[in-house]
Amino acid sequence: MASKSKFQAIRGTRDLLPPETALWNRVEETAHSVFATFGFGEIRPPVFEPTELFARAVGGETDIVSKEMYTFKDYDISQELQGLWSLVFSARNPNTYDETIELAKLTGRLIAVARSGLESGQLSRTPENLRAIDQIELYSSKLPGLANQGPRETGPAAASLRDAVTDLDLGDELSLRPEATASVCRSYIEHNMQQLPQPVKLYYMGPMFRRERPQKGRYRQFYQIGAEVLGGSDAPGIDAEVIEMVMTFFDRLGLAGVELDINSIGHNAPDCRPAYVQKLKAALEQVKDKLGADSRRRIETNPLRVLDSKLEHEQAIIATLPRIVDHLCADCAAHYAAVKRQLELRGVFFKENWRLVRGLDYYMRTTFEITAKGLGSQNAVCGGGRYDGLVELLGGPATKGIGFAIGEDRLILSLQENGKGAAPQGRDVYIAWMGERAYATAVRAAKDLRNVGFSVELPPTELKFGKALERADKLGSRYALILGDNEVSEGSWTLKTLADGTQQKFTEPELLEFLKRYP
Ligand code: ATP
Ligand code: MG
Repeated sequence: MASKSKFQAIRGTRDLLPPETALWNRVEETAHSVFATFGFGEIRPPVFEPTELFARAVGGETDIVSKEMYTFKDYDISQELQGLWSLVFSARNPNTYDETIELAKLTGRLIAVARSGLESGQLSRTPENLRAIDQIELYSSKLPGLANQGPRETGPAAASLRDAVTDLDLGDELSLRPEATASVCRSYIEHNMQQLPQPVKLYYMGPMFRRERPQKGRYRQFYQIGAEVLGGSDAPGIDAEVIEMVMTFFDRLGLAGVELDINSIGHNAPDCRPAYVQKLKAALEQVKDKLGADSRRRIETNPLRVLDSKLEHEQAIIATLPRIVDHLCADCAAHYAAVKRQLELRGVFFKENWRLVRGLDYYMRTTFEITAKGLGSQNAVCGGGRYDGLVELLGGPATKGIGFAIGEDRLILSLQENGKGAAPQGRDVYIAWMGERAYATAVRAAKDLRNVGFSVELPPTELKFGKALERADKLGSRYALILGDNEVSEGSWTLKTLADGTQQKFTEPELLEFLKRYP
């Protein structure tokens, strides 16, 4: 019997449905149009990439990479290699002479196919794989000599053989993207975009994946809209314009309670951030006893992140700590001052927040975060910053970069909470038809009306007028077009306004004119 259990969307994922998807579309269309006015072009990178790309770009120590990524093996190898691998891996310990010889033969074939896989590139030529094949060969070659001695001798040899087979890595390790900056930088390098006029300005939108604890505003598949500026310059005007662009976008959407926090985190040179981190660390050591376990641990691992703490009792202590703004090198201080001036020039309001930090070395200078109303504790709708070392870290030319990522789910939530959600969209015209001849006319009328942009519902089977009008009402239709055989032969159509029940008669061309005037 077929199972009756129902399928459900995986925890932390969800279906976006009408009418809400109309709001998603409005948000995305607004992003396309606002970003285009700033000269940004859209990039659509794939949603999965080698795990190594994210490990390097996001950082192996971060929560995102160390525990939140959806990682899987991708097998591009031949069926034959895969099949032989499974056979050897799942083989029982041989009990007889024949079984032992059989296993040795099978393994011999696995080795031959694996070696040709190395030649053809279907099997990665990693040191681990080369060693695994040597080991498999070693244990396999021992089998025939042991064949006469029984399970006591062949058993351990077969077990070692299986271990060696397990070490053979047949696949590439891939991950669903937890964010897209890494992909954009990978793409910039792969397509030699440094040869294009600089800076290159790109934006993206789409799903991201992180295995986090699902809650309001936090999902495992969520959506980001983001942009990156890559090129040779770190002029403060670039930072300010990127921020101006996000703020313009939010403004266009009518997002409520938008607050922009900015900071500069200097750069990774002895006279700048590292010197500050030393001071911070020393100051933290002084107050260590008053801090919670997490913060105490971070004094060693990543002192900057103590500043992120949301713990009530730590706030007063954190307020006394040294601030990075007072310890920036001259260049970073000048850059920060210029970014602030440039924001003022653009009429962008901001608040300086010295506790806004990023944990990775290649993040530098400008960082910013934007919060909005109606989101509870998950109120950050956008995070961004400068990352001048990243492209180089990924093997590309020395390149400067700045970007941001907007959490689209949270943006939508905030719009909904503040009455900026989409109203359910009814049909413009419901065609109530009865009779063969009326149907032919109804089909043509539907086509004509749709061609000029009206949304039209045409019931596929005949309904009594009363029933049809009831359905038109339920669908939230604005008008019902009544077409019976009489109307068709007289060439005079009846249009009923559902809100007040009034009816008017029109010829076909008059009807179109009327609807265009009162859509
Ligand atoms: P948070 O501190 O809120 O977890 P984050 O620092 O992990 O944010 P970023 O990686 O900078 O976030 O991503 C930028 C934006 O993407 C966030 O400001 C947020 O709006 C959104 N975002 C991040 N993770 C999620 C998630 N799991 N579900 C929904 N939106 C998310
Ligand atoms: Mg997070």
